[in-house]
Amino acid sequence: MAAAQVTEQEVLLPKYNLTPEQEKNLILRHYRVLLKALRPKLKKGDKELVRRAFKTAADMHKTMRRKSGEPYILHPIAVALICVEEIGLGVRSTICSLLHDTVEDTDMTMEDVERDFGPEIARIVDGLTKIANVNMLDANLSQQAENFKKILLTLTDDPRVILIKLADRLHNMRTLDYMKREKQLKIASETIWVYAPLAHRMGLYNIKTEMEDLSMKYLEPEEYKDIAKKLSETKRERSRYINEFIKPLKEKLKKAGFKFEIYGRPKSIHSIWNKMKKKGVSFDEVYDLFAIRIIVHATPEKEKEECWKVYSMITDEYLPSPERLRDWISSPKSNGYEALHTTVMGPQGKWVEVQIRTDRMNEIAEKGLAAHYKYKEGNSDGDPFEKWFAQIREVISSQETDGVDFLQDFKTSFLAEEIYVFTPKGDVKMLPVNSTALDFAFAIHSAVGSRCIGAKLNHKLVPISHKLRSGDQVEIITSNKQKPSEDWLKFVVTAKAKTKIKDALKEEKRKIAIDGKEMLRKKLESIDAVLNQQNIDELVSHFKVASQLDLFYSIAVKQIDLKELKEYHVTNEKLLKPVKVITEIKIDQEQKAPVTPKKDSELIIFGERSDKIKYSLAKCCSPIPGDDVFGFVSTGKGLIIHRTNCPNAAQLMANYAPRIVKTKWAKNKEISFLTGVKIIGIDDVGVINKITNIISGELRINIAALTIESGDGMFEGMIKVFVHDKEELDELVARLKQLNGIYEVQRFDMDDATFS
Ligand code: MN
Repeated sequence: MAAAQVTEQEVLLPKYNLTPEQEKNLILRHYRVLLKALRPKLKKGDKELVRRAFKTAADMHKTMRRKSGEPYILHPIAVALICVEEIGLGVRSTICSLLHDTVEDTDMTMEDVERDFGPEIARIVDGLTKIANVNMLDANLSQQAENFKKILLTLTDDPRVILIKLADRLHNMRTLDYMKREKQLKIASETIWVYAPLAHRMGLYNIKTEMEDLSMKYLEPEEYKDIAKKLSETKRERSRYINEFIKPLKEKLKKAGFKFEIYGRPKSIHSIWNKMKKKGVSFDEVYDLFAIRIIVHATPEKEKEECWKVYSMITDEYLPSPERLRDWISSPKSNGYEALHTTVMGPQGKWVEVQIRTDRMNEIAEKGLAAHYKYKEGNSDGDPFEKWFAQIREVISSQETDGVDFLQDFKTSFLAEEIYVFTPKGDVKMLPVNSTALDFAFAIHSAVGSRCIGAKLNHKLVPISHKLRSGDQVEIITSNKQKPSEDWLKFVVTAKAKTKIKDALKEEKRKIAIDGKEMLRKKLESIDAVLNQQNIDELVSHFKVASQLDLFYSIAVKQIDLKELKEYHVTNEKLLKPVKVITEIKIDQEQKAPVTPKKDSELIIFGERSDKIKYSLAKCCSPIPGDDVFGFVSTGKGLIIHRTNCPNAAQLMANYAPRIVKTKWAKNKEISFLTGVKIIGIDDVGVINKITNIISGELRINIAALTIESGDGMFEGMIKVFVHDKEELDELVARLKQLNGIYEVQRFDMDDATFS
């Protein structure tokens, strides 16, 4: 990434003092490690080519140092080594990795690369140079989309560009400690946002996981350290369990003549953290901290059969959970992943995930795309990557204009489990799938959450219950008058939001209860009793409430009627149980009937008594002067005026052409016409006032009826108004649209309104 490398090339004082001779040896040592890893792939003449690339890069980067103080060339060597060892790439990619920063950061030009290394290498280095200039976290959304398109274009050109880029990013993440804090946050955000999903999509599970963990280490350092610590504290106990689990399986499989490896593998810190957030549980409650992996050696034609045999032997030993069988051998994932996953009941009644795969499947799972091609060998029929690239090319070429939607759709399709949402400043928040705008608000700060009244999502207004998608940029709208309500619990998914809302509700209840307590004190005094613990306990049991807090609260909100206290006898300020049992608790405050729309006073239409023709205005489209209209000669009701864009118009005109009469409006401002306006906006205190002020105050338009329905912080208002003509209506709509928090104002036709 451009930003990262700009700092990498800043010359810093070396943190260790090596003589030029020592430094040269250090560089050569690293280079030899790379050569050794590459050796099996070297063909005749390759070694010389690699050496030339190394010489060129070392020479070009000669004076540059990394932030750590190391010679810069160690970075390209490390990137090349990741490509070879962890992604399984070969000679060409090694050469490109060695050269990947030369055009970007040194005097070397594309022409130089092409002249010295040929067009294939030049094309890849060119792609890498282009991505280096892409700033993914540009605040401007459409710019982001454009940048993302650029990356995807290079991807479909030659996937090696992205693979090398991923190696580059991985090495930068591994050495992020040396960067400044802001830079760490920026690079980590970018990594979690686009590079980890890309790695996932390319089938590079290990790299994806490492990127996620490293990003979390910088983005959520506390949580990261906490889980890492707990993992190491429980390690011994876990190993013991894994051994206990594996032992009988090992024996069985050996007896049956399988060649295999079996081991327990801890889940990543990031995935454990996800689980904790998603399920709202603590570390101790996450049951699958590890998975058991069995890698079977099998000949190509027996792969599937062998895996299922192993499955069968495992499930003979441990009972499988019927819902948790995943067969990615019969239908591999779109990124090429193949394996059988099952979850079985292990010793001590613990669920354990078991993954079964062959060597080949394992290599694909770890090295993704590159390994995939190695096994495909020219047979590209039904190749999932080819299909994917084709889809990308199609999407990119068909979507010219709306970059934002494109970006959105693309990112959403990358990510399944976790979503990444952005603040207006481009900070990233990780949230579980199905998180709402309100979850996001609480993720920012609990004070923001409690006052959240809505959100702007990619610049559009949405209610607080709106479900977020990955890549959404969300701006939270707050109001000081807002406070958490019981309803909120129905749609938040994060543990943080849930707890905070519950706390706030309890706090609110406590405040209200103070009034109830005072009311009770007065009532008791009026019957010569006192407010003491004994009497309170008596009343708690009498009214069958859970606690004294509930008692006071119920009194305050009039769920409990204190008149009942008359039934008590009072002796020495003490309440004595009434002889007659009286219990009638009014509950279900919240089931109070919703505010029903005020019944419209009457739908009056002022018919124009001009000329000789008797006519009426169609109820289906409620035309008003200024609208394009036509008359329809009805049987019995005279001429009925419809708008030409009335839903019924086409049908009337088509079927009853002879009965259609051309009609025009006469200028007559004396008469008002009833029409409807539908408004959608954020349910903020005072908003209705502002609306009615504009309508009847400023524009002096009569309101015939007004209904407001609100929920989830949004409201929908249906207003029937009397206007003189279309001009007046247009003005009204325009004025209402200017109000803060209003995002839709539309004329509606009386028929499709919900008025009765
Ligand atoms: Mn680099």
